[in-house]
Amino acid sequence: MPEWPIVGHAWAVRQLQYAVEHAEVPHALLFTGPESIGKNTLAELLVAAMLCRDANEVPCGSCLSCRKLRSGNHPDFVLVEPEDRTAHIKIDQIRDVERFLALTPVESAHKVVLIRGFESATAGAANALLKTLEEPPSYAHLLLLAADADLLLATIVSRAQHIALRPLPVAEIADALVSRWSIDAGQAERLASLSGGRIGWAVTAALNPEGYERTQSALQALLRVLREELPARFESATALAQDGAVLNETLEYWSIFWRDLLMIQTGHGDLLVYREQYPVFDVLARSVSLADCLRILRHLEHIQEALLSNANTQLAVENLLLDLPELGFDPQTQLAP
Ligand SMILES: [Zn+2]
Repeated sequence: MPEWPIVGHAWAVRQLQYAVEHAEVPHALLFTGPESIGKNTLAELLVAAMLCRDANEVPCGSCLSCRKLRSGNHPDFVLVEPEDRTAHIKIDQIRDVERFLALTPVESAHKVVLIRGFESATAGAANALLKTLEEPPSYAHLLLLAADADLLLATIVSRAQHIALRPLPVAEIADALVSRWSIDAGQAERLASLSGGRIGWAVTAALNPEGYERTQSALQALLRVLREELPARFESATALAQDGAVLNETLEYWSIFWRDLLMIQTGHGDLLVYREQYPVFDVLARSVSLADCLRILRHLEHIQEALLSNANTQLAVENLLLDLPELGFDPQTQLAP
């Protein structure tokens, strides 16, 4: 078997290659692990290998099936994901999956469904999927991606073969950044150690340094507001409300930051989206209450919806900033040197 183009997770790759080769891929597979650890890359390689028509080397990347898959036009494959980072997998999306699986494959021996972010599924969607998992058609394969099996219905987890991906060694990530992505050694080492073992994060940060910078400025803006008293917050609101695009992006980042804080507070510190910010988030998570976190998350969700429906931006942002708790210190000064 040729190597699949993925960094690390060799044991999982071997297991999946064997299953494809012997036509033993289970009806339900659950891939878990922190954000950007490689769940999606691995699942996509499995889909390609299952649908590829090449006799020897799967996935070949060049047969008609591989090309259709790459262009998003393979009739035997469907991808399901939340509409955006804060949305849920909805029951309607699972109903579409049921309809897709009701008909036999068009071009291959299998029909494959890849569901990303399954931990976000509503109770209705999860229960609907459970029905499908109870009696799947012989050609059906469901690949579920989730941060952690603990976040799913136990009845779903027990019906799936579980592949739990763990963080990669920092040295393996640094080597891969240098050898596969031609990043210089110093930068590769710095990003590898920030990555918390998540290859996807390291590659994105290496190829798109602006993305990392933008996260940093959104975080700095939040830390600044948390230290501000009332009059200063009104000024910050005015500044923030000025540019709609920047505001939307900032609110999106803040939603994820507050979710990360909630993760730390509930003992899931290994599942942060912004794992590289752990030291600051850890101080923050201990400085605000769980109730603060939940309230701010609801407020952020509400303001994002309100802004879509032409709410008064200035007023909405002022309300949000006044709702944020006040910190008497800069969390960055509390970090161990
Ligand atoms: Zn192929």
